[in-house]
Amino acid sequence: MTITVEGLDLPEDDEERDELLNDITRLIRQKTREDGESEPGKITITDCYQYATLPPECPRCGGEPHRADPTIHPDKPREAQSKLDCRKCGYTASAIYKLVDIEKNKYLSEIRAERYISIVADGEVIPEYQSYER
Ligand SMILES: [Zn+2]
Repeated sequence: MTITVEGLDLPEDDEERDELLNDITRLIRQKTREDGESEPGKITITDCYQYATLPPECPRCGGEPHRADPTIHPDKPREAQSKLDCRKCGYTASAIYKLVDIEKNKYLSEIRAERYISIVADGEVIPEYQSYER
């Protein structure tokens, strides 16, 4: 289960914000226990955007699969695809890469490019969330 709350103004004070997030966690834990769950699943609550990522290992054997360089999908400019090929167990699949962030040079200069910052974390863009299709 994933709960996404967007556009909620949290308290600017760190202590007040942490207290509110802890209260929300406590309420979810309490409600799931009331509904028969003896121990709710892991509850993670944060006050920032999150993106999903998969481990790089082969999902079948844990080996290190070969991946071709991704190519951008012609009809989906935010998506790239490559072939995933595990030589250890023969697993083959398509790897999907989605645009989740853009890191801009903090110094806005090509000369001093040693520090990049996320435009999502910086609040310049708001990510969209989509469910995985089965
Ligand atoms: Zn494998």
